[in-house]
Amino acid sequence: MARLNAFVVSLVLLLAHAQIGSAFSDGSFQRTCTAPNQMTGQPQPVLEQNVGNVMGFHGFTSPLPNGGWLIQWNVPKMVNTPPLMRRFLFYHECAHARRATSDEATADCEGLRHMKHDIGVTPNQVQQMAAFYAQYGRVFPPPGCKY
Ligand SMILES: [Zn+2]
Repeated sequence: MARLNAFVVSLVLLLAHAQIGSAFSDGSFQRTCTAPNQMTGQPQPVLEQNVGNVMGFHGFTSPLPNGGWLIQWNVPKMVNTPPLMRRFLFYHECAHARRATSDEATADCEGLRHMKHDIGVTPNQVQQMAAFYAQYGRVFPPPGCKY
């Protein structure tokens, strides 16, 4: 049954935003990531795409040939991730594009800062995120991060 529920949820997520769009939609949480185009320097919406369980990531952000950015979401993995982490991962992936960096600590810190500014983050939520990251052997927030 859990497997079936996950399938149903993934279908809902897939239908909630088209194959490639520029909005992250997760229930009532809907956001568009905006990042500077690497060629023009102008802010523009980051493209988002739902993909299957292909590389083990939750989300993967990469530059496009036109200077824009694309976030690919591993839908099977995301539906099994707590809602708080799904929201944070939006800000984390968006931070990769906003800062044009592949550095995970930078994306974690910038993502946390952006999330706090946008929707607020309680100390308890930071603790929950730290516990989630600990499963992957990562320290959260990264040392020295002021958010
Ligand atoms: Zn990352």
